[in-house]
Amino acid sequence: MTTYARYIANGAVTHGILDGDILKEISNSPLEDHSETGKSHSVSDVTLLSPTEPSKVVAIGLNYKSHLGGRPGPNAPEPFLKAPTTVIAQNEDIVIPKVALDEGVKIQPEAELALVIGKKCKSASQADALDYVFAYTCGNDVSARDWQQNDLQWARAKSSDTFGPIGPWMTTDLDPTNIQVTCRINGEEKQNQNTSDLLHPVTKIIEYVSAVITLNPGDVIMTGTPGTPGDIHPGDVVEVEISGVGVLRNPVVAGS
Ligand code: MG
Repeated sequence: MTTYARYIANGAVTHGILDGDILKEISNSPLEDHSETGKSHSVSDVTLLSPTEPSKVVAIGLNYKSHLGGRPGPNAPEPFLKAPTTVIAQNEDIVIPKVALDEGVKIQPEAELALVIGKKCKSASQADALDYVFAYTCGNDVSARDWQQNDLQWARAKSSDTFGPIGPWMTTDLDPTNIQVTCRINGEEKQNQNTSDLLHPVTKIIEYVSAVITLNPGDVIMTGTPGTPGDIHPGDVVEVEISGVGVLRNPVVAGS
């Protein structure tokens, strides 16, 4: 199990391996050949970046029974796309668009186990699906509910800028069938469930998605959210905790 972070140290984008509260610098992205440089940085001295810069974020809807709210569970995974411009890092602001505030649109975070793809993946089978997963991270599939219900497409609801926080770093070699997914708003727990309850497991998701979409190294799959998320407003702080990874924390602010 290794945890990799991407961060700014001394003005430069850097990669490192987390060891306690120290980041041991490596020579390259962890997805490419790399070695330790011998330099290190304290986590408190760096600015964390998203652990990956995905070419796309695939997300899965309706993947926990507890999130269905009486709706029938889908027979297959329900993928949709979030734009790469949704991705933000630890401590970066979730910006609620001004038009959403003006319309009184309900905004909710969704705590999700997120997968980081390690190598080009097309037409994977369930048996080899996990070979394509490099690491796991915390994902927040921020959603504008009224637009999700009333727009014909989910672009505004799911792909508004900053609606895809991931991080604070990514961890390899977890068991994706036994991970606790938790969301807190201002410290109050709103969601808490285990990935053992996923309707469609990680291996099935990768098989289903890669049958039609090539997944590139660094791409992210958000695997669905459990239960009933809370609402967020400017001034709130959202935390997504993934057991074995850590806590992704983002303030919420009003767009202008
Ligand atoms: Mg979601």
